[in-house]
Amino acid sequence: MKQWEKTVKDSIITSEALKETPGVDKKKIDAVVKKYPMRINGYYKGLIKKRGDAIWKQCMPDIQEINQRIGRKDPLLEKKYSPIDGLVHRYKDRVLLTVSDMCAVYCRFCTRKRHMGMEEEILKEKNIQKAFNYIKTHKSIRDVIISGGDPLMLDDLQVKYLLKNIRNIEHVEIIRIHSRTPCVLPQRITPELCKMLSKYSPLYFNTHFNHFQEITKESRKACDLLADSGIVLGNQSVLLAGVNDDAKVLKELYERLLTMRVRPYYLYVPDAVKGTYHFRVSIAKACSIMKKLIGNTSGLAVPHLIIDLKGGGGKTPLLPKYIIKHEGRKYVFKNFEGNKYYYADI
Ligand SMILES: *Cc1c(COP(=O)(O)O)cnc(C)c1O
Ligand code: SF4
Repeated sequence: MKQWEKTVKDSIITSEALKETPGVDKKKIDAVVKKYPMRINGYYKGLIKKRGDAIWKQCMPDIQEINQRIGRKDPLLEKKYSPIDGLVHRYKDRVLLTVSDMCAVYCRFCTRKRHMGMEEEILKEKNIQKAFNYIKTHKSIRDVIISGGDPLMLDDLQVKYLLKNIRNIEHVEIIRIHSRTPCVLPQRITPELCKMLSKYSPLYFNTHFNHFQEITKESRKACDLLADSGIVLGNQSVLLAGVNDDAKVLKELYERLLTMRVRPYYLYVPDAVKGTYHFRVSIAKACSIMKKLIGNTSGLAVPHLIIDLKGGGGKTPLLPKYIIKHEGRKYVFKNFEGNKYYYADI
């Protein structure tokens, strides 16, 4: 067994294992975990500095998850847009292939909370074959995203099997891997894995850091290994109440990510998923946070703010307002410092 496999295996999955942790209500944890599983691996637990901090909130079950009546299990209607179990085809030229419902940590705010760790099942062979066939027969698909759960809960051979088969499809131009492991289980990114991945270029890798407290020596090494293998790294964060809904926190996170060659890609407004409402942030607040980032750090450090519209409307960008008035050719802008500028259009 590899080191990372052992770390995953030794994770905290019952309240029993938390009895030494101060501030944990065992009964409440049991009640939540019955519905939404818990997995906190030793590495990620080690990042907690104090009870209720940004790391704690992301991984520790909260009674609010099961007390909420509002929200839907599948607000993005992913099921409706799945021609095959595990393959979401919402945009004409790209598909999302969910190959595992297992993760190295179960994030309490997960958009796919309905699947998260439900069967801890990886790679249903029959379904995967069907998915390959679907991609083969749909020539419009030029971008395949391997996601989950976490696809890097598969072992290297299984990942290779996926990449090889997808690479063999002529019209697929790029492959993306979406994995949180560089953040929550950096040990997973081994030189052997990177060597294998490097053969499937152009390969894009989107990871998922939400707070600068998640940036460590280990995660830096994982990103270095990936970048040195010619893999293009991006980061998708979720804006989470009480975790990172603060421009200072995000600025520090994004600037540090750039030093590890990870380019901030998307920042999501949380989806209206049942059991995650305590993490939700308003659109107004999200835009005001963006306003504090834009112009006040490298453009490279600013991700797109995205809302995935309920009912399957798709990913939609949100921008703070810069045009405050507009009449014919005459525009009035408010710049990043809040000063007014006039502009006559052509
Ligand atoms: C997010 C997502 C994509 C990828 O969207 P990009 O904007 O290209 O990153 C593709 N398919 C589905 C179903 C998605 O949810
Ligand atoms: S790693 Fe991603 S898919 Fe897994 S629980 Fe966290 S947010 Fe959800």
